[in-house]
Amino acid sequence: MAKPLIVCRDLSIIYNKGKSNEFKALTGVNTDIYEGEYIILFGPSGCGKSTLMYAIQGSLPPGEGTLLVKGDDVYSYPPAERVYFQRYVMGIIFQSFNLIPSLSVLDNVALPMIFCDVDKTKRNRRAQSLLDRFGVGHVSHKIPAMLSGGQQQRVSVSRSMVNDPKILLADEPTGNLDSISTQQVMDKIDEINTFDRRTIIMVSHNAAHLKYAHRVYYLKDGHIVREVVNPQRKQIKPVSEGETIVTELEQLARLYPYDSVETLRVKSMVNYLTQDYSFDQIIRLEHSTDLFLQGKIDRDAFIKSLILPLERGGVEIDEKEARRMVNVASKMIDQATDIKRYRARKDNDGVFFSQHILAERMRDHLSGKYRIKFSKEQDENMAELIADRVTGVINEDEMNLRMTKSIRSGGLSLSEAEADDMTRYFEKVIAQGVDVSYKS
Ligand code: ADP
Repeated sequence: MAKPLIVCRDLSIIYNKGKSNEFKALTGVNTDIYEGEYIILFGPSGCGKSTLMYAIQGSLPPGEGTLLVKGDDVYSYPPAERVYFQRYVMGIIFQSFNLIPSLSVLDNVALPMIFCDVDKTKRNRRAQSLLDRFGVGHVSHKIPAMLSGGQQQRVSVSRSMVNDPKILLADEPTGNLDSISTQQVMDKIDEINTFDRRTIIMVSHNAAHLKYAHRVYYLKDGHIVREVVNPQRKQIKPVSEGETIVTELEQLARLYPYDSVETLRVKSMVNYLTQDYSFDQIIRLEHSTDLFLQGKIDRDAFIKSLILPLERGGVEIDEKEARRMVNVASKMIDQATDIKRYRARKDNDGVFFSQHILAERMRDHLSGKYRIKFSKEQDENMAELIADRVTGVINEDEMNLRMTKSIRSGGLSLSEAEADDMTRYFEKVIAQGVDVSYKS
């Protein structure tokens, strides 16, 4: 199995150590970043994103813990080797461009090569070809102040690539740009990842950027609070089968990055149970569902809280509907427990029988809920389908498609509407049963 390119283990970074203004900016950080990955460090201002990036870049030594790049502790390098590392292994782009105002664009890009004994003609040729590539070749003779912000940032992108680094670090690279320039710069960085296959580590607090990354580390108060995989990108980091599942919780986690898994489970269930309710009702329903999911109230108390009028702290839902909701919620929780059990036993030989029973139980619940009478073949295919989905062998779309396929080809021959309904419900069940946090 491939080894990670960058490893942080229980990393802490302390500013002004031993002084009265000592400050621990990072605590207990663990990351594994693989070659070719696009990683975003995401979180509110002051949470420690830049600190982590500069620690990786070799300019902030760990207070505690380990930080390895390509298996090496870069902080143990002699000074000359550290400089080599920062020059050839890492490229960096800053929010404020950091171009030298008195030098031409071409000289700004060629500058890092001066320290590497490259002759002038070669330097200029390489700098010009990078500027051409990033769409600013025609302004290479100008000084930076004559360029727009977007152009200046594309000059810095060219400069960061001049020594052909393996890893590109970007500190809020679009923080000072308008939306069109932002798009151009993000596209170029994306190209460096997908075409040049360079590893990217970007600091950002713009949620619109998350779609570019393979994975996002969410930081808060100096900790990594969550790691979210982008389901739209083929993953490089090796993950075990169960972890490849893209659950609704992961989708929600991207919308509500600072919510805990428990809160996301509540949102997921409430999304399913409510359709035409007011904002006030949904907030109340979330609260009651939270208590129910945590086991703090039982079924009866849950029903009661749903029926009570709003002015008495209830959700004001009619009794029949409240009972229906509580039934669905209870069944989902039971099924989610089955899924957890299924996964826990999956790797254990000799439990095939009980595994199979669990898949059948889930199947019977689903077919019963949708009042579909399955043939023997459909029954078998359905149990197979559930097992594949629960273990992450297939994703939501594949499950949906297979439901509409012919029985002979392993499908269920359902109509699209039936398949959509069943998939939607089953994804809710999975969302209740899956923890989005990654375990190594
Ligand atoms: P982010 O990039 O998420 O905005 P930073 O990594 O820049 O956060 O900063 C994390 C915390 O460390 C902040 O509270 C910040 O004030 C503090 N900090 C950053 N640099 C220094 C420094 N040189 N000395 C002392 N504290 C610092």
